[in-house]
Amino acid sequence: MKLNTATENRLADRPFNFSPGPAALPESVLAQASAEMLNWHGSGVSVMEMSHRGKEFISIYEQAQQSLRELLNVPPHFKILFLQGGGLGENAAIPLNLSQGKAADFVVTGAWSQKSAKEAAKYCKATVVADAEKSLGGFYGVPSSDSWQISSEAQYLHICSNETIHGVEFQQLPDLDAIAGRDLPLVADASSHILSRTVDWARVGVMFAGAQKNIGPAGLTLVFVREDLLGRALEICPSVMNYQVMAQTDSMFNTPPTYAIYIAGLVFQWIKAQGGIAEMERRAIEKSKLLYQCIDASDGFYINRVAVDSRSRMNVTFFLKNENLNDLFLTNAKERGLINLKGHKSVGGMRASIYNAVPVEGAYALADYMKSFAQQHG
Ligand SMILES: *Cc1c(COP(=O)(O)O)cnc(C)c1O
Repeated sequence: MKLNTATENRLADRPFNFSPGPAALPESVLAQASAEMLNWHGSGVSVMEMSHRGKEFISIYEQAQQSLRELLNVPPHFKILFLQGGGLGENAAIPLNLSQGKAADFVVTGAWSQKSAKEAAKYCKATVVADAEKSLGGFYGVPSSDSWQISSEAQYLHICSNETIHGVEFQQLPDLDAIAGRDLPLVADASSHILSRTVDWARVGVMFAGAQKNIGPAGLTLVFVREDLLGRALEICPSVMNYQVMAQTDSMFNTPPTYAIYIAGLVFQWIKAQGGIAEMERRAIEKSKLLYQCIDASDGFYINRVAVDSRSRMNVTFFLKNENLNDLFLTNAKERGLINLKGHKSVGGMRASIYNAVPVEGAYALADYMKSFAQQHG
């Protein structure tokens, strides 16, 4: 079966899924995986049943790695690791690999960067050098880099480049050479917006992403690491988390998450066939603009407090002014085939996650629904 490269044929019984993660996958990828489930390319077995060291799986792995490198223009001096442990696993792996037991700095723009700082404090001195809750009165944007109080002993600076829960996104990665005045590696948790925009690799030390938002199934974690940062791990760093060990073994020090890698590879091919990262970015802009316009034009019926220049293109958060309507909003949405719009429990309100696999038509259907709901209940 071939990937459907033209407009997606939507299956009638599948709703538009705005889940924050694990999230929607392209339907043509699911259809292809389904067709190949019992017998992958004449091998007689499922991808799940293959040795990770056999030639069939190695070909799947190498193609996934190669497509990803091409899609994101990853320079040769970056290793791409296919790991397990999720975003939260990386919150421990990063200080174990990079802090040298000394210190690390954190810019806190939402729940995820806050968690990262807390986890790192187990392994090194973790300093919050800017906190949007303090400087902006809430997670409503990115504190200006002029205000970051970078510590001299920090071995790296960590950001979450898209805060999935609060809907705050860095529109560009900070240039730490200029901000810190020295080679301070930037660590970026890009779990929820990777593959939706290009990456300025000159600004990156390590970038990581759990797969379950914009890449594929849960269980796979991608780590991009600049080669000169390998070999700094603490003695106590578990081998499966040690970037140098994993780089030297092509991420096969132990059994990698083979099926998740296979699906991720199909997603990479799908992105390529759709027009690559530029097309994903174009769609993300179209989808997010549409929803933010709908919110801003609602006369306060819907509210989003994030600074316009920090609004996420992937996770559109909003509140209904009359919170008594929340349940009705969600129930009616579901009836119209618009599911998983409830905000994170720590924040409340609503959140539409419009990752790459959510079609543009999904955003139009949601905006239409939001307008008619506001008309009816405003
Ligand atoms: C989902 C998410 C995580 C959590 O990843 P797990 O795979 O659950 O450990 C970390 N960071 C960000 C930005 C996320 O969106």
